[in-house]
Amino acid sequence: MTPQKRLEGRVALITGASRGIGRSVAKHFAEHGAHVIVTARSQGALEILDDELREFGTSATLVPCDMTDFDIIDHIGTEIQNRFKKLDILVGNAGILGDLAPLAQVTPKDWQRVMDNNLTANWRLIRAMNSVLRASDAGRAIFVSSSVGHQARAGWSSYAVSKAALEMTAGIYSEECKDSNVLVNMINPGGARTAMRADAMPREAPEDVKAPETINHLFLELASPAYTKTGQMVEAEQELAMGHTGYNL
Ligand code: NDP
Repeated sequence: MTPQKRLEGRVALITGASRGIGRSVAKHFAEHGAHVIVTARSQGALEILDDELREFGTSATLVPCDMTDFDIIDHIGTEIQNRFKKLDILVGNAGILGDLAPLAQVTPKDWQRVMDNNLTANWRLIRAMNSVLRASDAGRAIFVSSSVGHQARAGWSSYAVSKAALEMTAGIYSEECKDSNVLVNMINPGGARTAMRADAMPREAPEDVKAPETINHLFLELASPAYTKTGQMVEAEQELAMGHTGYNL
């Protein structure tokens, strides 16, 4: 039996979709009928994703770019307006770890790089996508945070601070969207087997960490027109521990 497609006709922009969590979410959304617009710097990896999607009889709009070239984000917004007239789903996922070091040892250059990637690019996305999200009958914005964004932990420096600020940014945007059909939520994936996780936890055996695919359903719920909450932080580990392992809506 063909599984029900939950995102038929929806247009989704997913940042950081060349690998890891973003790639997994982009594939899942496409399998559920969404047209996915995917960004990352690695053009080759986006093309491989597109090839895989074509095997399902769908395809993606590929936007190879650096999210810290902020004017490109405005350009993507204009193109979405011209081509689709709306954006149903925004997943602000792209992120970098930066140097994990005590605050006193972080370099100004690395601090700025992490803030640009993890915080400012997401604010620029809000700024550029606000009108197309509001043009959707059920706009859904999802921002990807981390445990260290709401739990101070020594040595997580600029990464943790950028995620804390991202959480406030998403919270404010959620409040500002209460006059509209746009819902804004956050997800903390918990440990997921990706390149970033391997960088952060080099001594950890990758097979001990859950695959990104195990949390696809949580993104799907937050992206769904049927989802009703806003300003939520979805803690993936807690959801999985409570047995929330499949689409619930
Ligand atoms: P990966 O490092 O595997 O993937 C990061 C993605 O972001 C890649 O597609 C990368 O593409 C893209 N990216 C990074 N910098 C830029 C840039 N300047 N411009 C465009 N794209 C960029 O990370 P994960 O999948 O692990 O992480 C995804 C999100 O989940 C991040 O926000 C991370 O903070 C968060 N997270 C992850 C956890 C984990 O355990 N994996 C735990 C908690 C949170 P490219 O290099 O091709 O540009």
